[in-house]
Amino acid sequence: MSNAVRRTLLYGTAAALVWGGARAHSSLTNAALRPSPSLGPAVVEGALGNRLVPQALRDAGCGPAEAAALAHAVGRALDARRLRPDDRFRLVRDAEGGLMHLTLTHGERRAVVTPGAGGRLRAATRRDPVAVTERRVSGEINGSLWLSMESAGVPAEIIVRFAETFQWTVDFLSETRDGDRFSVAWNERAAGGRVLARSVDAGAYEGKTTGRRTAVLFDGRYYDEDGESLERMFLRAPLKFARVSSRFDRSRRHPILRINRPHHGTDYAAATGTPVSAVAGGVIIAAHRERGFGNVVKIRHDGVYTTLYAHLSRFGRGVRKGARVEQGRVIGYVGSTGMSTGPHLHFQIEKNGRWADFLALELPFARTVERARRAAFAAARERFRPLLSGSST
Ligand SMILES: [Zn+2]
Repeated sequence: MSNAVRRTLLYGTAAALVWGGARAHSSLTNAALRPSPSLGPAVVEGALGNRLVPQALRDAGCGPAEAAALAHAVGRALDARRLRPDDRFRLVRDAEGGLMHLTLTHGERRAVVTPGAGGRLRAATRRDPVAVTERRVSGEINGSLWLSMESAGVPAEIIVRFAETFQWTVDFLSETRDGDRFSVAWNERAAGGRVLARSVDAGAYEGKTTGRRTAVLFDGRYYDEDGESLERMFLRAPLKFARVSSRFDRSRRHPILRINRPHHGTDYAAATGTPVSAVAGGVIIAAHRERGFGNVVKIRHDGVYTTLYAHLSRFGRGVRKGARVEQGRVIGYVGSTGMSTGPHLHFQIEKNGRWADFLALELPFARTVERARRAAFAAARERFRPLLSGSST
């Protein structure tokens, strides 16, 4: 499932509003374009929106020639191709309408254009000092994760990052319960009064279903408090929104053949067409039709694990023998091909040449903190000790 789809499913329209937020700039821009009514310097300011610099300046009252000259000067101080819709400009004129200066702010950098000798424009780049602040919030689940964190004052992008940080270990769609507790520490980089970036430094989630889950950012990855990476080799299931309809059983009576035949996999009941994802990255060793399994995909993940996905209605794009797939990639769609009583995914995993029970398997961690970095990790973790242990932050 793509991240965008996942976000929408997790957060519904709240997320859509946030991600669509950039678009609201164009309407705000026009509202900000009214010149100040004072008799002193006249200031026009606003966000670029989806306009190029010359157009924004013309909308701010510049003539075509002046707008072009100012935009050219801005281009000497900032790379115009990197400007973004939320970059802001400020145009200041004296009481006679003469240009005093134009400032265009892009992140922590500002282009300042001033009139020089002989009507030439001078352009300079200024860099605002970047201030980093750390913030911490704790709260309780009441309804969804999104609404609970939002009402505790956590910014939207941090809620998304928090959910992504725990995506291998907590299923926030089905495992959140009222009364569960969350804590998150994040930092904000700001310059010139604007937040440039936010990122999660540490987080904890303690729930009835999930138990206590922790995350600390260290060397660019998230680890739990014991130093084990949160990124798992395997997803928790090959598909979302399904229920397990038949478990691994070494002596099951087969529903069609009506003989005792072991069920070496897990069946997930789901509607025909539901996307099926590779639970881990690997190489496709089979993507073809078999009599019993119908359309089946087999993936070898490493020297130890192989997974199999059967009864597919069709294959995912580019899925063929020899192709590489990444974790989460859609490799096919639920169906009922082969020997099957109805639409479902039959999924099985082989460990060292033997079929294993995926739901009971102790799945390997992707990695742990290297021995040489353990002391540094312990120091990083110490900063968030109260937060991780669930006491107040
Ligand atoms: Zn099955």
